[in-house]
Amino acid sequence: MELFRPSDPIDLSVVIPVYNESANVGPLLARLLPVLERITPAFEVVFVDDGSRDDTAAVIAAHHGVEPRIGAVSFSRNFGKEVALAAGLDHARGRAVVIMDADLQHPPELIETFVARWREGNVMVYAQRRDRDGESRLRRGFARLFYELFARFGEMPLPEGAGDFRLIDRKGVEVLRALPERARFSKGLYSWIGFRSVGVPYTVEARHHGETKWSFRKLFRFAFDGITSFSTVPLRVWTYLGGAIAALAFAAALYFVAEYMLRGPVVPGYASLIVSVMFFSGIQLMSLGIIGEYIGRIFAEVKRRPLYVVAERIGPAAAGQDAAT
Ligand code: UDP
Ligand code: MG
Repeated sequence: MELFRPSDPIDLSVVIPVYNESANVGPLLARLLPVLERITPAFEVVFVDDGSRDDTAAVIAAHHGVEPRIGAVSFSRNFGKEVALAAGLDHARGRAVVIMDADLQHPPELIETFVARWREGNVMVYAQRRDRDGESRLRRGFARLFYELFARFGEMPLPEGAGDFRLIDRKGVEVLRALPERARFSKGLYSWIGFRSVGVPYTVEARHHGETKWSFRKLFRFAFDGITSFSTVPLRVWTYLGGAIAALAFAAALYFVAEYMLRGPVVPGYASLIVSVMFFSGIQLMSLGIIGEYIGRIFAEVKRRPLYVVAERIGPAAAGQDAAT
């Protein structure tokens, strides 16, 4: 086998966001490298260290010493997985880029199938989880609800069970990188760019070490971000609801006038009054809140801050800018 030089074109990049994953990096590489070696010698592994507070960066640096095709971009602080993925795409140089988690929930062996499907002409090959056995029923229920809402109100449906574990052809990567938005809801963006894509079913494995970084609150926030990034229905629905309520109020007014004329003055109870006042103030606050969500999003976009700040980089990822927008 001929030796691979760092200046050679890269066939395959693997982007891995890591946040406090020092115990997972070694076992992951032990399984990932043989798979990549079987596919092509011209690969690179780009870790995006999302401001880890443990020795993740040092562990990666040690691996880089042994295997120069392993590199890392380290953020100056924790920017979140979505942003880490964007940075990974900015730094990956391969003709195809694979995105995967560091905790071995995504079986590296599947990458061989990804590559086969990619060679058949698919721009996007995504892993599609068979079941959500490892999750609570409540969580599964919410996931269901989210996909249903998204299918109904979003700009396009999301393939169910498809996560970030996927292969993207260079063509798709360039389109994703050119998208200007700061609020990155990758799952939506992957679908939005279109192109020929195909799912590969797989079974999620248990997390190798440590705990998931997603609390229920974070997941809810994530789902909310997803819907408000890809739908204006929550904004527009108030027009119709307001119209319906106004029509109801008008009908009630007519009823009260008729009642007054037929039966003379009556003394109504306070209960209905209080209930309706509270109900409608609730609706008003809610609609204001929704508008606030969107304005907050506009604010975040117009500030035009860089998406992330790089503190350090090693290996293949060294050729990049420090504050990408
Ligand atoms: N991750 C990250 N930044 C964060 C949280 C997570 O880069 O702020 C990484 C994490 O190290 C892992 C991947 O994103 O490689 C998925 O995280 P996790 O396993 O916690 O999520 P889950 O599998 O439960 O969706
Ligand atoms: Mg995980």
